[in-house]
Amino acid sequence: MKDLLQEAARRADAYLAGLDQRTVTPTAEAMERLARLDEPLSAEPSDPAEVLALLDSLGSPATVASAGGRYFGFVTGGSLPAALAANWLAGAWDQNGALSVMSPIAAKVEEVALRWLLEVLALPPEAGAGFVTGATMANFTALAAARHALLQRQGWDVEAQGLFGAPPLTVVVGDEVHVSLLKALSLLGLGRERVVRVPVDGQGRMRPDALPPLSPATIVCIQAGNVNTGAFDPAAAICAAAHESEAWVHVDGAFGLWAAAAPARAHLTAGFAEADSWATDGHKWLNVPYDSGIAFCRRPEHLRGAMAATAAYLAQSDQREPMHYTPEISRRARGIEIWAALRSLGRAGLAGMIERNCRAAARFAAGLRQAGYQVLNQVELNQVLVSFGQAETTRQVIAGVQADGACWCGGTVWQGQTAMRISVSSWVTTEEDVERSLAAILRVAQAVLPK
Ligand SMILES: *Cc1c(COP(=O)(O)O)cnc(C)c1O
Repeated sequence: MKDLLQEAARRADAYLAGLDQRTVTPTAEAMERLARLDEPLSAEPSDPAEVLALLDSLGSPATVASAGGRYFGFVTGGSLPAALAANWLAGAWDQNGALSVMSPIAAKVEEVALRWLLEVLALPPEAGAGFVTGATMANFTALAAARHALLQRQGWDVEAQGLFGAPPLTVVVGDEVHVSLLKALSLLGLGRERVVRVPVDGQGRMRPDALPPLSPATIVCIQAGNVNTGAFDPAAAICAAAHESEAWVHVDGAFGLWAAAAPARAHLTAGFAEADSWATDGHKWLNVPYDSGIAFCRRPEHLRGAMAATAAYLAQSDQREPMHYTPEISRRARGIEIWAALRSLGRAGLAGMIERNCRAAARFAAGLRQAGYQVLNQVELNQVLVSFGQAETTRQVIAGVQADGACWCGGTVWQGQTAMRISVSSWVTTEEDVERSLAAILRVAQAVLPK
């Protein structure tokens, strides 16, 4: 075991050290070599060292270098050193994070991480939370709490009786709602298409003047950080209107909620703490390993009402029991990496990381504008949308950037306009990475564009 773990550490270190020299996407040759994994399951055991060597030799070159500093696809963070190291140690611990009796350390660390998260995200200190796999499940979990609370209020026990025959709930979303929220609604029996869509402005922000009539049977879903523009819905106005009607407000804040942790960006999250539930990711802007998201609920009893499960053999206690806040029972103790990330960064380190990423986005936007390209969004956070002209031209630039391999950016269609997305979310990204990537993008664009 000892030699094997040291060998794993040596290989991981070599992998990370090599990221700067390789292209962000794997080479065609590395992709072809993956076919060698298509072997029959061996009848006899293999040496674990040989298994690891095979995984490293075929697998490492076929990774996307998202652990490096020049990956700007989707909204993808890296893994902070303390978070990655804690993940390894926790892997050796092999703890089941369901109950405190199964892992006192996992239960304790979640409690501490929860307190710190509420502090850095400027959410109500009394809120409860479940540590889940990502923002999709965090949206699902928080919306289950909303469904529980709003139906309980009408005398309907949805956990016991299900939705057949239940009083109807109305779900209000902005027109630029994230697909994961619709997926969560579909899983909850609330339906992707039963939603009322509210018109948005040019940045994707919900227009509060266009809200439909709200009631105590309404869930209003707002966004902190649109996945394309990074824009924030006007939370203060929407929460005030919703709460006047006793409606529930849920926030999809997968990455945008983290703006609260950086003093120069915190104004963007004004009003979001007034909501009733929130979903965010750990594996995006906190830079912990996959998979990690958090579902918060102002009143922890609503989360427990939706998620708690009891059986004679599952110990009861007066403590906060992790499994009463999550869809899963057995699960990875993923609060550990969140704790390690926050413990190592401190408030200043976290603020610095967020701010650096936002400045990098501003630098990309300035460089692209200066070269004559159109930046489609107001760059206030870590997202940049750029058009290189015609849709086809922009698509060619995106493909060219991806093939070039100096950096990686994805594409999108923003309110009818084809654009390249740049999302800066990694602790690793340096100013040098940004300059090198900007130069690569401009080089590719000049080669594609007619002179
Ligand atoms: C990424 C994202 C999600 C989904 O998060 P996962 O971690 O992939 O489940 C939801 N909402 C927004 C706004 C996002 O950016």
